[in-house]
This record gives sequence, structure tokens and C-alpha cells, in this order.
Amino acid sequence: MLHNYHTHTTRCNHASGKDHEYVEQAIAGGLKTLGFSDHAPYLFPDGQYPSTHRMRVDELFEYAESVRSLAKEYQKDIRILCGFELEYYPDYHAEEKAFLEQVKPDYLILGQHFVGNEYSFIPSSRALAGNDLGLIAYVSQAIAGLATGDFLYLAHPDLAGYSFSPETVEREYRRLCRAAKKFGVPLEINLLGLRGNRHYPSKTFFRIAAEEENEIVLGADAHDPFDVCDFESEAKALKMVKSLGLKLLEKLDV
Ligand SMILES: [Zn+2]
Ligand SMILES: [Zn+2]
Repeated sequence: MLHNYHTHTTRCNHASGKDHEYVEQAIAGGLKTLGFSDHAPYLFPDGQYPSTHRMRVDELFEYAESVRSLAKEYQKDIRILCGFELEYYPDYHAEEKAFLEQVKPDYLILGQHFVGNEYSFIPSSRALAGNDLGLIAYVSQAIAGLATGDFLYLAHPDLAGYSFSPETVEREYRRLCRAAKKFGVPLEINLLGLRGNRHYPSKTFFRIAAEEENEIVLGADAHDPFDVCDFESEAKALKMVKSLGLKLLEKLDV
């Protein structure tokens, strides 16, 4: 893996290591592109910040400055990009985009962890398990996000895929894959899922993605500098790519 666009920092409160350590690991591992995509700060209606798993609103400029200065410092060794991972929250999307635009991000990736708008209603993808309507709602919201055209790719598209009836999973995964194809958005095989033995990446999902001829990208989803070059999980992902006949993109246009 030479290009990774999915990297976090400690600002999200569930990552470790210094920003420059991510860069140094990436260089040591031979990466050509390291894209930072920390969980974006969110502008919720009353100006308060209830989330504990994202950077704070007042960290926006400091984050961008840190990434940009590393990009300059290490420009001879690696290309460093400044992006964000965000949710698609219909009530806040336009404002959120304008807010992030202040630091001119290189790209945004869609990482849908919730349905609804988080602030008012917080059923996480995990809490939806067991109710097929939950998966339908999740997929509909992710598709609405893809339709904005604002996202470079969809991270862990199979995040919400457990404890639902197999027919619903088959149908909804296919609906999501077809929408991603239609809007030209690649789908990520998430290495954090492999690293952590999570329920994703899902073989069912990526079998469907192969059938629908979706474009696939690998994402380290690094929350620690040592995750940036996770060759073990990458090998597992590449095995999956090969066995399912997936169309892997090595590099994205950003
Ligand atoms: Zn995270
Ligand atoms: Zn992530």
C-alpha cells in the first residue's frame, strides 16, 4: 500500500501518538501519500460540542496548521494531505462543509457511524443491530451522503451489517454498492476492522461489490502511528481483493 488516506490524530480522543510520528512511520514503511482524515469537529445547533470522539471546534485551525507544516517539512519524502472523516448529517451538512472550507481541506471521506443527526437522536450503527429498519435507514443516509458528491470515498461501508436478516443485508448492501457506482465513489476495505477482528470487512458486502464492479480502496484507519503501515492487515485485505476479484485502486485522484 503506497497511498493511505485514512489517518487519525489524538484530537479525536481515541487515538495515540504525535502527528509527526504518523508521518515518520509512513516514510519508514515506504508510503508515498499520507492523508490525515481525523474525525471532523461538528457544529451542533446550540454551539455546544457534545461529542467525545471528534476534535473540538476550536481545534480546526490548529489541526490544519499542524498537517500543513508537516507536509512542508517532509515534502521531499512523502506527500501529506489534510482531510477529514465526517458523517453525513442532513440537517448540518451545508454548514459543516462551509465551516471546514475555512481550512481548504484536500478531501473529505464519509464515515457514517450514526443515523439521524447525532445531536438530537443517537442510535449508533451498533444500536441498530437486530432491526432491519435500522439497516435500511443507515444505507439510505449513506446514499444521501454519496449523492452530495462531496466525498472522496466511503469508509467502512459495511459498518452496519450485522444481526439483520440475510435477505435485507443482501438487498441493502447491493443498493449501497449500486449507489456508490452511480455516484463514482470508491468503497473502502477498512484495515482497522481486520486489525481489530471486527465484524467488518464483510465478505458478503465485498462479494456484492465485486458483482457490481465497484472501485475499492484500502484504508489504514490509523489511530496509532504503527497502524499507518499495517502490512499484516494489508496482506489479508489483498487476499480478499484477489479471491473476490475486486477492482482495487492504488491511488486516488486528489
Ligand atoms: Zn476513530
Ligand atoms: Zn476512521
